[in-house]
Amino acid sequence: MLKVVKFGGSSLADSAQFTKVGNIIKSDARRKFVVPSAPGKRYKGDTKVTDLLYACYAKAEKNSDFSSEFSQIKARYNEIIKGLSLTVSLDDEFAEIEKNFKAHVGSDYAASRGEYLNGILMAAFLGFEFIDARTVIFFNEHGELDAEKTNEILGKKLAETENAVVPGFYGCGADGNIKTFSRGGSDITGSLVARAVHADVYENWTDVSGFLIADPRIVDDPAPIDTITYRELRELSYMGASVLHEDAIFPVRKEGIPVNIRNTNHPDDPGTWIVESTGKKSPFVITGIAGKKGFCSINVDKDMMNSEVGFGRKVLQAFEESNLSFEHMPSGIDTMTVFVDQKAFIPHEQHVISTIHKLANPDTIDIESDLALIAVVGRGMKSMTGTAGRIFSALAHARINIRMIDQGSSELNIIIGVANADFEKAISAIYNIFVITQI
Ligand code: ASP
Repeated sequence: MLKVVKFGGSSLADSAQFTKVGNIIKSDARRKFVVPSAPGKRYKGDTKVTDLLYACYAKAEKNSDFSSEFSQIKARYNEIIKGLSLTVSLDDEFAEIEKNFKAHVGSDYAASRGEYLNGILMAAFLGFEFIDARTVIFFNEHGELDAEKTNEILGKKLAETENAVVPGFYGCGADGNIKTFSRGGSDITGSLVARAVHADVYENWTDVSGFLIADPRIVDDPAPIDTITYRELRELSYMGASVLHEDAIFPVRKEGIPVNIRNTNHPDDPGTWIVESTGKKSPFVITGIAGKKGFCSINVDKDMMNSEVGFGRKVLQAFEESNLSFEHMPSGIDTMTVFVDQKAFIPHEQHVISTIHKLANPDTIDIESDLALIAVVGRGMKSMTGTAGRIFSALAHARINIRMIDQGSSELNIIIGVANADFEKAISAIYNIFVITQI
């Protein structure tokens, strides 16, 4: 049994957090490969080292004095060294980074140093080998991850290693320079390492005990999700539930490796399991609820639309021409509605309308804004009758007007459109009926 463990920034924010992480790793000899993030926030209002690095480099690029930001960064690492009584020094590294900043080597290089330095400290702390991600993770000339090259080289390197630390978030670009993933990308590194060593589990340690059924800012003390499938997770993350970087699923999915989200501050909590498939029933019909505000609906009416071949394509072409992607497209006999992101749509609004008129010649076009979409997701819905009915009933009791309902053909989710103003109330009502009262 082999485990790959990734620790997020808040799990490594200072020496006290490092100590917790050390205890977690040492308590299980199967935790052989470790992927650290950069030190994150120690308290609310604190600044992550990655943000300090970006700010520092922005000054360096303008040839302004960046010594104050740079001192803050150095102080963060020196506190960890001192707090853990490590014998390593990062002074040579700091000097080189400073020199490279002055030479304007690039903001990806700058940001990556957060993980790089933390990786050196983590390796020293654990007595593990340090492997620079630059030598084992690769991007292609389009700036995308080169998954196969990475898997091959990373796999070979790790096969020769008993225990290792591979810093998260960056690798080597096609030009040989450092390149980072998008923010939160250490999750992807962890997943790549898990795939490369054929791990039995990828543990992703953070500051929450896994996924919750609903957003705790909306629902009081929501129940945790014990097990969720990759596809359910994709539906929920798309709708804004974020714990794991979206691209982190793909590498482990290729190998069917489960991901276990765990809490560094509560290591005994079982956390959430993300799996390819499971026969385990979730305790409720639904697995989770997530949603987003800020959508527009464009309702297009035309008599006899149903018999006009190609009408839908022409309407969608108008969106495509403005490079707008659409979210949902419920339709009636003589109407079709297209849901789009409001912020993206507004600048193109009049152009899209005139293009629809030109291409599809509808009778009327009507736009509604300030709508929210809510996804009710669950693998259990397929085999249950009445799920949609329960949602309707919960929303009716809460006096919420449903503006749209759309059930995915996979029967994995039901999407509901409501006014932005009803968003929180709707989520609470759905949560209550499925989780609290269960009627
Ligand atoms: N340190 C990087 C960030 O703040 C990457 C990560 O933490 O995963 O986005």
